[in-house]
Amino acid sequence: MDKKKVISDFPKSFYQGKKVFVRVDFNVPIDVETDSIREDYRIRRALPTIDFLIDAGAKIILGSHLGRPKGKVVKDLSLQIVSNRLSELIDKKVLFVKDFIGSGLSDKLDDLPDGSVVMLENLRFHKAETENDPAFSGELAKLADVYINEAFGTSHRAHCSTYGMTKDFVDKISGFLVDKELSFVSKMMKTPEHPFLVIIGGSKIKDKISALGNLLDGADKIIVGGGAAYTFLKAQKINIGNSIYEEEMLSWVKDVYDKYKDKIVLPIDHIISKDFNRTSQCLISDIDIPDGHMALDIGPKTIELFNSIIKGPGYIFWNGPMGVFEFEQYSSGTIHVARAVALATWRGATSVVGGGETIAAIRKAEVLESEISHMSTGGGALLEYLGGSSLPGIEILD
Ligand code: AMP
Repeated sequence: MDKKKVISDFPKSFYQGKKVFVRVDFNVPIDVETDSIREDYRIRRALPTIDFLIDAGAKIILGSHLGRPKGKVVKDLSLQIVSNRLSELIDKKVLFVKDFIGSGLSDKLDDLPDGSVVMLENLRFHKAETENDPAFSGELAKLADVYINEAFGTSHRAHCSTYGMTKDFVDKISGFLVDKELSFVSKMMKTPEHPFLVIIGGSKIKDKISALGNLLDGADKIIVGGGAAYTFLKAQKINIGNSIYEEEMLSWVKDVYDKYKDKIVLPIDHIISKDFNRTSQCLISDIDIPDGHMALDIGPKTIELFNSIIKGPGYIFWNGPMGVFEFEQYSSGTIHVARAVALATWRGATSVVGGGETIAAIRKAEVLESEISHMSTGGGALLEYLGGSSLPGIEILD
């Protein structure tokens, strides 16, 4: 993919007084009970772009989705709370606009002072957004003079705000975050430093096969943990008890293991339980899991084994937790891996961590953002890009 124009490729004077639509990805987890944002990482990651535009004197119109309201107004999925948080972070008023279609908003924006920030209500309250409806695209495009994509995590979707509306703009530019995401991921795919270590976890392999398929050849070692490991172990006729596995992936996994067995590292012991809940009694099991039990985390010998591999230098890509880290008693494997990745980074490795759950796991391990080279905001988009798919929201940029 050719290098895309980034926001700082234009002088600040280019933006002054212009209305700039920034497609951000403020799809953050909300705790409905306490009406608070659980994790504002995605908001904070867009701040350099927003600050740059404020400083340049642009009129900034932020558009995002939140959750899956499926074309209906859902109170709990309003971006009002995000708008308030953004206002705190930039220490500036953010004008929150609920009605932006056919309401003459574009003219009102002309009257706002330079450097103003406007946040639109959840774009997916309109069914037309996800249908890439040309009329809705046209309405969004009317709001601004310049288009910026700062929503890497949504770039695999050809929706109005990520794709359809862009055809009406001369200037379609990537924000700082999108630029950073692309440069890390491109490097990983083309010229990663060696040893190149891939760590895969989480519950499903199916979503990750294209990405994994593209990384296998270049990687020097591939650690597979979490639920994903049990399809690999089952394919080798190891007893996995009631652990999760994907029947339809068995033959793919078997082929991959046969071809790459020198590179693939699997758990050698597990934390198991009879029940899947927060307080269930847990035991350590050797590689074969007794009937009636399921593996919910990697065991202590596996932690030692993985730690001995996650050393750095080189390049490390990590996607997916090593166990059900949401439950305290099954979080140890993931926390150890997070800390090992941070330590390897300190020793000189370049580390890229992707996927919402993995970032939540990093937080749980109390690893700081600065201890990881790049924490990607793109879950599905990242995996699709690694799998070789072109991302519509990226393709359309200059
Ligand atoms: P994914 O979206 O595929 O990355 O999966 C993330 C989820 O995988 C997390 O919510 C974990 O709780 C879950 N997970 C990780 N390891 C296991 C396991 N051994 N059994 C069941 N679920 C797991």
